Amino acid sequence: MSAGGPIIELRGVGREYPAGENTVTVLRDIDLTIRAGEFVAVIGASGSGKSTLMNIIGCLDRPSAGSYRIKGRETARLDPDELAALRRESFGFIFQRYHLLGELTALGNAEIPAIYAGESPASRRARAGALLDRLGMAERSHHLPGQLSGGQQQRVSIARALMNNAEVILADEPTGALDSQSGQEVLRILEELHAEGRTVVIVTHDPTIAARAERVIEISDGRIIRDSGAAAAPGAPEARHPPASSGLIRALWTRFTEAFRMAVLSMRAHKLRSFLTMLGIIIGIASVVSVVALGEGSRQKVLENISGLGTNTLEIFAGRDFGDMRSGRITTLVVADAQALSSQSYVAAVTPTVNASATLRFGATAVNAQLRGVGEQYFDATGTTISQGRAFDAAGLRDMAQDVVIDENTRASLFPDESVDPIGQVVLADNVMLRVIGVASTRQMGPGGGQSLSLYLPYTTVQARFLGSTSLASITVRVADDVDTALAEQAVEALLTQRHGTKDFFIVNTDEIRQTITATTRTLSLLIAAIAVISLLVGGIGVMNIMLVSVSERVAEIGVRMAVGARRSDIMQQFLIEAVLVCMIGGVLGIAAALGFGAAFGRMTSEFALVYSSGSILAAVASASLIGVAFGFLPARNASRLDPVAALAKG
Ligand code: ADP
Ligand code: MG
Repeated sequence: MSAGGPIIELRGVGREYPAGENTVTVLRDIDLTIRAGEFVAVIGASGSGKSTLMNIIGCLDRPSAGSYRIKGRETARLDPDELAALRRESFGFIFQRYHLLGELTALGNAEIPAIYAGESPASRRARAGALLDRLGMAERSHHLPGQLSGGQQQRVSIARALMNNAEVILADEPTGALDSQSGQEVLRILEELHAEGRTVVIVTHDPTIAARAERVIEISDGRIIRDSGAAAAPGAPEARHPPASSGLIRALWTRFTEAFRMAVLSMRAHKLRSFLTMLGIIIGIASVVSVVALGEGSRQKVLENISGLGTNTLEIFAGRDFGDMRSGRITTLVVADAQALSSQSYVAAVTPTVNASATLRFGATAVNAQLRGVGEQYFDATGTTISQGRAFDAAGLRDMAQDVVIDENTRASLFPDESVDPIGQVVLADNVMLRVIGVASTRQMGPGGGQSLSLYLPYTTVQARFLGSTSLASITVRVADDVDTALAEQAVEALLTQRHGTKDFFIVNTDEIRQTITATTRTLSLLIAAIAVISLLVGGIGVMNIMLVSVSERVAEIGVRMAVGARRSDIMQQFLIEAVLVCMIGGVLGIAAALGFGAAFGRMTSEFALVYSSGSILAAVASASLIGVAFGFLPARNASRLDPVAALAKG
C-alpha cells in the first residue's frame, strides 16, 4: 500500500537566530516531504536542530528561509490566527515535558483544544473522558498533573493532542523523561495511532525506538544527512471527522465562559496576590463612594440649615450695611414701610422685626435671651415652623399681648424636664411677665440663629415694654413664589427709596446666600471627589502592574495554550477578563467597605449622615470594570503577542 498525498512539504527551509552581532544558523536547506499516514522518526545529536524542525512543522515557529506548505498551502502567507487554526485542527503536539496546566485536572487539560475549537462543554467532556479511558487513564481523569506520574502525564498530553482529531501527531522526545516501561507504553500508543491512519512524526534519541519507525531521518548540524525514504504506509487514512462545531455565537460564548472560568481558577490559585491587587481598587472605590456620600450628606445638611433662612426672603435693615455705626440710631425704618410693602403684588408675607435682649427667669433658672419682636406673618415669611402650641395673631399685635413663642433652645434650657408642658407657663423677661403659647424650631443660620435663645413676641409688645421706641430693626419680606427674588429686591429698593427720599437701608437677599453656600459646597465635593478619583487611578495602575507580573509569570501557560491552538484573541480575552474580574470584585468589596464606613460614621456622630445614591454605586462598579479593561489591556496584549516557541521554552 502506498502512502497518501503529501501533507508536509519543506523546500530549502532554513532557520536562523540573531546572536549578538551575528546570526546562528540552526537549520539550513531542509527539503522534506511527509505523506499522509507515514510514521517518521527524526534522530540526531542534541542541539542538531530537531526541535526547531518540529516547531516549524507544527506551525509554532516560522522558517526564516525557504517554503513550507501544508497540503499545498504556503504557511508564510498565513496570519497568526490561521496558524493557530492549523495547530488546533491539524496538529497534535506531544512534548518531552508534557506541558500540562497545573491548575487543571487531566480531563481539563485534555479538553483545552476543543475549547478553542468552540465545542460545547458536554460533548468535549464526553470525548476527553473517552480518550483518557482509551489511554487507560479513566480512574485518574480528575487528578491534577501534580498527582500523576510522568507516564500518566504523558498519556494526558497524548489525549490532548488527539482531542481535535489531529491528522498529524508531532512528538518531540515523548519518552525522553520517562522510565523505559512507560516509554514503551507511549510508543505503543503512537503506533496504534499510526495504525489508525494518522501521520506520526517522532523525535527521539533512542535508536531502538527509531528502529520501529518506517522512515528515519537523521539530522546533523541543521542538515538532513540521511533519509531512509518514504515507506509503504498503511491504508488510506480514515476520513477525519472534526468535532461538530456549534454555531458561531455558541462557539464565541463557549470560549468566553472558558476564559472566564480560567480567570477564576487562576485568581483562586493566587489568592493573596489577587487580594493585594484588589486592595488598590477596594480603597479607591470605597473612598470614591464614601466621599460622594459624605459630600451629599453634608450638602443636604447645609441645605437643611439654610432652609432656616426661609424661602426667598429679603431682609431690609436700616443703615448702609452691617456694621454701620449709625444703624442703631437710624430710626427711619418704620411700621408704615412694612404696611406699604405688604400691599405689593410681589410680596407674599411681610413682618417687621425689632430686637431686644432680656434676662429670662423661670423658677430658679435665669438665662440671657434675644427678644425678637415680629409680626404675625413672621413664621410664614421666614418658614419657621411651630412644633408645639400656636403663634400669636393680629389681635395679639393690636393688644400688645404678653404672649411669647419660645424656640427649641429656650425650651431646652428653661424646661429641661421633658414631661413639663411649656405651653401656658409664665416666664419673666426682665420684669415683664410673658405667657408661653408656642414652641418654634430653632433657626440654624442667619441673624440670631445657632446657639442663642430666641423668643418671639409681637413687635408692638417689644416696642412698648422693652424699647420704648417705634422704629424697626429690620423688615423681612417673603417674595411671592412666582416672582424672581432679584427683581423683587429692585422693586423693594425703589419703593423704600421713594418713601424715605434716600437710600438709608440695605437689603439682604437669602436666595443669594443660599446660592453662594450651595456653590461652595459643590466645589468642595468636586475637589474631594477629584482626590478620590486619583486614588482610583493609582489602584488601576496597581492592577496593571500586577497583571504584567502575572503575565510574565505565566508565559509557559500562555505558550501551552497557543501550542494547542489558542488564538491571540483567546489569550487576550482571558487576561482581560481576569483584570476586569479583579477590579469588579474589588469594586463590590469597596462599596461594602464604604457602606460599613457609613454605618461606623453614623455611630460616631449624629451631625449628619452619609447619603449614598444608587447612581454613584453603579458608577463605581462601572468605573471599576472600566479600570479593569483600561489597565488590563496592556498586559493582556503583551500576553497575546508572545511567541509560542519562546513562551514554551520557559516552561
Ligand atoms: P535539538 O532539539 O536537536 O536538541 P534544537 O532544535 O532545540 O536542538 O536547537 C538547535 C540549536 O539551536 C541549538 O544549538 C540551540 O542552542 C539553538 N537554538 C534553539 N533555539 C534558539 C533560540 N531561540 N535562539 C538562539 N538559538 C537557539
Ligand atoms: Mg530538542
